[in-house]
Amino acid sequence: MFDSFQISALKNLLVPQNKIVIITHYNPDGDAIGSSLGLKHFLKQKGLEADVIVPNDFPKFLKWMPEAKQVIIADYKRKIAGEAIYNADVIFILDFNASHRSGNLVGPWIEKARAKKILIDHHQQPDNFDFVYSDVTIPATSQMVYHFIEALGEEELVNKEIADCLYTGIMTDTGGFRFRSTSATTHRITAKLIENGADPAQITSSTWDTNTVSRLHLLALILGRIEVVKDGKVAILWLKRDELKQYGFQKGDTEGFVNYGLSIMGTQVSAFFMEDLYEDFVKISFRSKDYVDVNQFSRNHFDGGGHINAAGGKYMKSIEETIEDFKVKIEGEEF
Ligand code: 5GP
Ligand code: MN
Repeated sequence: MFDSFQISALKNLLVPQNKIVIITHYNPDGDAIGSSLGLKHFLKQKGLEADVIVPNDFPKFLKWMPEAKQVIIADYKRKIAGEAIYNADVIFILDFNASHRSGNLVGPWIEKARAKKILIDHHQQPDNFDFVYSDVTIPATSQMVYHFIEALGEEELVNKEIADCLYTGIMTDTGGFRFRSTSATTHRITAKLIENGADPAQITSSTWDTNTVSRLHLLALILGRIEVVKDGKVAILWLKRDELKQYGFQKGDTEGFVNYGLSIMGTQVSAFFMEDLYEDFVKISFRSKDYVDVNQFSRNHFDGGGHINAAGGKYMKSIEETIEDFKVKIEGEEF
């Protein structure tokens, strides 16, 4: 957490005359959107306005969140997003650790911006910013936003909007309160969010009971050919661009598919390879159990990163070659 000196400096920055912008990583997920909108609603409670800017569009199943429709998508609104970042006095960097993680468009804008930059994030190896609150042991940035509100001594401002957003971020990034870093503190905060109006049944069904027939068909396709290698320790799933097109793929449709690989008894790692819809590269999602570190593996071999048990990366070869190279690379690993 920020020290008391930083907290007072931050209090001086969070004033009406300062323009505040909140930015997330590329391909924003539930925690990115939840923490950003949660913070925005908190600032609103303090009488402050803030723009949430995301590099590219986010899944439909997050659009029910309060004021999700006001989020500025830089891909679609370059001028507005660019000017907001350029003119900002304060930029919150939420749920990512380095400017480049917000993509080729927004990343350089963040670097050039003259604003004071405040990072709140739980990914490994954060870059240096004016204020850094980084903790890789916390399962969700949304939980860290709650800790930030506590450190400001303003928990009494937490209303239903804030609570719904932060609950969604914690729920999605813990895989429904399942992953290892889910702690008693996580549950205590979740309880407070419920006391302040978060509605678990509504949030769960709005976020997760959102399958489309095309998504289920895609899932059936990849489950039908799931492959397990390295003595059953590594599961491989994959999807090609033509298949995505054939099934009318929409953003978010493949979210969570990689987890099915880990649900197989005995697997340590699941890897999901997907051709990008437009460009010639393969996007990879890694998940692992226990102490197997896919963050380091992805950094070493796939130009990626993330967390110990959930990381991503990319590879510039065909999907067939990518999977072949992956199989070779895992031979040298201990898992
Ligand atoms: P996902 O598999 O859900 O796309 O990503 C899992 C985790 O890895 C997320 O926390 C995400 O921020 C991180 N991640 C995904 N792709 C990349 C990447 O290309 N580079 C880095 N550094 N992190 C990534
Ligand atoms: Mn997160």
